[in-house]
Amino acid sequence: MATAIGKSEWEVKVPEKTLKEKLYFENLKATVIDTKLCSRCLTCACVCPVDGIIAPDGVEFPNYEDECTDCGACVRVCPRFVYEPKSGLGDYTDFIAGQSKRFKGQDGAMVTELIVSAMEMGMIDRGLFVGRDEQWTTEIFHVRDPEQLEIPTLGGTKYTFASVLPELKKAARFTKKGVAIVGTPCMVSGVRKLQQEFPFFRERIKLVVGLFCTENFHYDELTKYLKEKGVDFSKLIKTDITMGKFIATMTDEEEVKFKVKALEEILPSGCNVCTDFTAVESDASVGSVGSAAGFSTVVVREENAKKIIDFIKKKGYAEFGEAKPEELGFLIGHKKKREGNIVK
Ligand SMILES: Cc1cc2nc3c(=O)[nH]c(=O)nc-3n(C[C@H](O)[C@H](O)[C@H](O)COP(=O)(O)OP(=O)(O)OC[C@H]3O[C@@H](n4cnc5c(N)ncnc54)[C@H](O)[C@@H]3O)c2cc1C
Repeated sequence: MATAIGKSEWEVKVPEKTLKEKLYFENLKATVIDTKLCSRCLTCACVCPVDGIIAPDGVEFPNYEDECTDCGACVRVCPRFVYEPKSGLGDYTDFIAGQSKRFKGQDGAMVTELIVSAMEMGMIDRGLFVGRDEQWTTEIFHVRDPEQLEIPTLGGTKYTFASVLPELKKAARFTKKGVAIVGTPCMVSGVRKLQQEFPFFRERIKLVVGLFCTENFHYDELTKYLKEKGVDFSKLIKTDITMGKFIATMTDEEEVKFKVKALEEILPSGCNVCTDFTAVESDASVGSVGSAAGFSTVVVREENAKKIIDFIKKKGYAEFGEAKPEELGFLIGHKKKREGNIVK
């Protein structure tokens, strides 16, 4: 069956249905959404030819009886339709601490530095960033010029789900040189599925940066929780999870701090079965743990990422230091245990 995205076409090898009489979306719903495996990575929404899949909260396809073309693309790219949990540090060539001299970010702004440097090298012409509005609702930006990064809310971590993957379809359609995507481990796994299944994405996605991640949250649930804890969103400038604490910092330097364990009651079910802390399938993974404050830990895995780091070093765009892989051990182990939560 041929499925179209813009002007590009590809052949979809239709996968076996587990529920033979049902549409593929119904198979996805029964196998991944209803069983609480869904991570809300939205790879399915990226590839759905009728753009029917949405995620106001959980993933749904409101009008699937009428609109689903039963092409099977959603189940082909879903990283949890046949779930093979990943874990550990993954393969890497370099494990370093970095701090950009040009940008400010959540930690050492190395994610931003990697994307902008890749742009300067001509590897990509577009990077997808998660920004936010005043109420911390996530918004996706197509960064095409480093000057756009003067918007201060583009860097930094938002601990709520962001609909990056649906925007990837647009970015891949319009790119001339290539696209970079930044995402949590589940999103990285989805992007790899897209590349594996469709040359359209394989040819256009040139850089995949993964973020270390213990968990993410639904916007409504997290904001309700934080408001109850006294966070004033009109003054909120930074959220951070560090050393087992969630810290919300306001403009007047006032902090609301509590044990991240307290958020277990709103832990999304898809995170509860996720075992990948370091985004092992990325080209480079970046996180906070493993480096001194103000630095990002950068795990360089693939040749493209290595070339960007060499470029950054040559240009003197960042300061580099030692990072400690052993410091990731606790969180890697913590996530590995979640394999036990997968209902088979
Ligand atoms: C949900 C979540 C949980 C995390 N948990 C941990 C953890 O437990 N331990 C740890 O060491 N590190 C964790 N990180 C990573 C850490 O918070 C920083 O993102 C990382 O260190 C990079 O910092 P930086 O200064 O280099 O990035 P910056 O240069 O500031 O860039 C930040 C990048 O993150 C992207 N981003 C922000 N929010 C989201 C989002 N919700 N979804 C997808 N992309 C997003 C932005 O688009 C931007 O590209 C987590 C990140 C996220 C998004």
